Amino acid sequence: MKATKQDVPSVQAPQDRVASVSSPQFIRSRIGKVCVAIAAASPAEMIEKAEETARENTFLEFRLDYLAQPLLALPKIKQFLYERSEVTAIATCRRVSTGGHFKGTIAAELEILEKAAAAGCQLVDIELQTAEAMKKGQLDKLRAAGPALVISYHDFTITKDLDGIFERISPFEPEFIKIVSTAKTLADNVTMMRFLERTRDLASVIGICMGEQGVISRVLGLRAGSVFTFAAANAGEETGPGQITARTLEETFRIDQLDAATKVFGVVGNPVRHSLSPVMMNTAFRRETVNAVFLALQTSKIGDLLTLVREVPINGLAVTMPFKEEILKHLERTDPLSEKVGACNTVVRSQDGKLYGFNTDVAAVVRPLERRLQLKGAKILVMGAGGAARAAVFGLKDKGAEVFILNRTPEAAQKLARQAKAKTFKRDQLAKTNFDVIINATPAGMHGVKTHNILEAKELNARIVFDLVYNPIDTPLVRMAREKSIPVITGVEMFVHQGARQFEIWTGKPAPEEEMLRVVVHALRQRAAEENGAKH
Ligand code: NAP
Repeated sequence: MKATKQDVPSVQAPQDRVASVSSPQFIRSRIGKVCVAIAAASPAEMIEKAEETARENTFLEFRLDYLAQPLLALPKIKQFLYERSEVTAIATCRRVSTGGHFKGTIAAELEILEKAAAAGCQLVDIELQTAEAMKKGQLDKLRAAGPALVISYHDFTITKDLDGIFERISPFEPEFIKIVSTAKTLADNVTMMRFLERTRDLASVIGICMGEQGVISRVLGLRAGSVFTFAAANAGEETGPGQITARTLEETFRIDQLDAATKVFGVVGNPVRHSLSPVMMNTAFRRETVNAVFLALQTSKIGDLLTLVREVPINGLAVTMPFKEEILKHLERTDPLSEKVGACNTVVRSQDGKLYGFNTDVAAVVRPLERRLQLKGAKILVMGAGGAARAAVFGLKDKGAEVFILNRTPEAAQKLARQAKAKTFKRDQLAKTNFDVIINATPAGMHGVKTHNILEAKELNARIVFDLVYNPIDTPLVRMAREKSIPVITGVEMFVHQGARQFEIWTGKPAPEEEMLRVVVHALRQRAAEENGAKH
């Protein structure tokens, strides 16, 4: 039956209301794009969380299986839904055998769901395996209680045979078909999105990939045809692996605004889980009203990345470890700097699918220094001989600086010095040498790295100290320099600068650099506060 808005009387008890409003069309007219899963240990806590969530999002899923006695929550849910008539709710009581927490039988699950429908939940969710194990009469009885039916399937290991699962669910004629798989590769998201595109006109389908690599499907699945997606109410309250909070989906990824024209960018590498690039770039896109979204693309396999770039398609990449060098051979052309340095951190995809590479790390070291001193003839020590050091050494040599390299492994310093026509430097000379600039291009002092101090105070003799490490903002080296009244440049300035140049390459617009700096500093401070909180 096709329901319309006229079917709903203006004043009605919840029981009457649900009977007339179970068509997918009607439900789709009521709901937003994000359903927030509410999981709690007690009925009171569940309602408290629902109240809090409903202030911003009126589409909820009550995960009754998280409660020890789900039936006890129903009077409270009934009251809540009666008072909050704008809320649309799914009742779910997934059993342990299908990935949930409910230890009861199928009959007990159905009793709970029927009662949840009577309490005002407009949708109930049952697993495909449950539907297949039920007797015909049982499903009819559940339907007679009035709710729209979601039949869902979860695969916690793989993304496979989505069409086959769709074929198994379809005969039950549920109002909504929900298929949730696990992404083991970035390309699994493409598989899910192609499936959604194929089935979007056949049924009301929800499709998501779980797991760290499934984030792409959580953000881009809607434009491929998923009717809605699921989100966590708060960080730490995820009901599925890889689930994102509703606030992040809405504010960072602007999920309500994504459409077919939205350009897709991402930071690729491993690890990128804690990368600050998504929050920085999405803020910049929003500020400059660019119709684009920026994702964290976690992989170590270049083939997987290239498939994603081709198939989504991805319009541009911020490239990080371990791909900065490996990506070069897959590019149509690079700028002379990337070639010289032998590393590329920025990729743009042209309309014909060809990839072009740039290096914005070099400018991100050079420009903050140029603002503060004349580089021609400046005496600069670079500590480290890895990727960041290479960008610094080549960039500074290019500007006419006299560059010295000091590295834990002397052979690596010698090799880089030969390539860049720079000089090596011995540690024992440090205490008696003055530099214009000392740059730390090693991870020493970085959060989670054992080596805190790369130098002793007496070895730090410079007019400016530049620490490329940006987490924490105030590294031990930065603090040591401040104690000696030496002006510092922090790694945050480099990070924002390289990101700002990437933004300009991708969009052709000036980057909102101050705003980018503000969100990065805010995010770093928030992380530091959370870590301190966790320690105490
Ligand atoms: P990388 O390629 O792995 O190179 C690391 C370099 O640091 C190597 O020369 C290594 O020496 C040296 N090193 C590692 N651990 C050390 C320790 N405990 N003590 C002394 N030296 C050590 O890394 P990368 O890509 O160049 O990045 C280096 C750091 O720069 C990163 O940790 C990051 O914090 C920072 N960075 C910041 C930005 C930014 O935007 N602010 C951008 C890129 C990088 P060996 O040769 O002896 O192994």
